[in-house]
Amino acid sequence: MINLHQPDLGQAELAAVAEVFADSWAGHGPRTQAFEAKFAEHLGVDADHLVFLNSATAALFLSCELLGLTAGDEVVLPSNSFVAAANAIVRNGGQPVFCDVDPRTLNPTPEDVAKVLTRRTKAVVVLHYGGAPGEVAGISELCRERGVVLVEDAACAVSSDVNGRACGTFGDLGVWSFDAMKILVTADGGMLYARNLEHARRARRLAYHGLEKASGFAAARESARWWEVDLQETGHRFIGNDLAAALGTVQLRRLPDFVHRRRAIAAQYDQLLSGVPGVTLPPALPDGHVSSHYFYWVRVDAEIRNQVAVQLLERGVFTSFRYPPLHKVPLYRSNAILPATEHASRSTLLLPLHQGLDDHEVRTVADEFRKAVEYHLS
Ligand SMILES: *Cc1c(COP(=O)(O)O)cnc(C)c1O
Repeated sequence: MINLHQPDLGQAELAAVAEVFADSWAGHGPRTQAFEAKFAEHLGVDADHLVFLNSATAALFLSCELLGLTAGDEVVLPSNSFVAAANAIVRNGGQPVFCDVDPRTLNPTPEDVAKVLTRRTKAVVVLHYGGAPGEVAGISELCRERGVVLVEDAACAVSSDVNGRACGTFGDLGVWSFDAMKILVTADGGMLYARNLEHARRARRLAYHGLEKASGFAAARESARWWEVDLQETGHRFIGNDLAAALGTVQLRRLPDFVHRRRAIAAQYDQLLSGVPGVTLPPALPDGHVSSHYFYWVRVDAEIRNQVAVQLLERGVFTSFRYPPLHKVPLYRSNAILPATEHASRSTLLLPLHQGLDDHEVRTVADEFRKAVEYHLS
């Protein structure tokens, strides 16, 4: 079976894990700090503004907590998003309000966002579909004009930028995922960026029960009764650990090679699939935009999309669709009508894309896909 996504963990990661074992310390500690520092360098921000957590979902929950939502507050997000963002809004007392996307890029435009802003909008949460930055600069400007907080769910965009500015750092809060199906993998893990240093400090506190001070040796040097509780507010248990951070540091070093390979695979698909009747390929990136190439997506006739996916599965090629529209999930109580999102959800298919694919596998996927489309269209 050719996987849709697959982690790339090897000898270098094993060696890093062995070092953690040898240290007899696997919890939150120096390796977490080192990973935060390296990731800060990668983004071009100060490490004080980053918090390494156990998932991007935890980072989204903390982001929504920092917004201080009260009943009736609305938070805008594209319907074409992962459930984590909408759940974080609902769990923090907000009402998710779903917007449509550009039918070509599947990212929202500033106009899509502006259409659903109201006096009650507290924040906007955008993602970068498949790693393509989208119109994040324009949306960030819109949010600033309207006095609305921007949260970037940069889970797909670990190495994406616009004119050198990293995705996830355009808004007030940014979130990255390092789960087992992402590009940079720590098995489970996520990063939170807060532009406001107070927010970053509070997020760090909330991520560990609400406790202000660290315990352990460091605290023992500063205080005579280092075991005492200094609780500022009740919190969670969202912190990352040194084992995951050790993986992250190695993966971050390898990230440029990962993305380079993914870019080459996307280009190979572009070439192999161009001119297949009834198939629309993802649009070229605008000048100055750099993608992490997390998804490679194609659009086919909605009548045949599901059959094509089933035929590919039978031929050993796993495809899927992200993200089933959230405005159709009854729990979120939305009556939005979003034509581009709905059409995309019926016609889009993600093809396998990960740095472990060789050229032969990429050709196999393209061949099987072309054959399936030709078969079902005729
Ligand atoms: C993977 C993903 C998440 C969740 O990340 P976790 O680290 O698994 O919590 C959130 N948003 C998007 C867009 C994702 O792709």
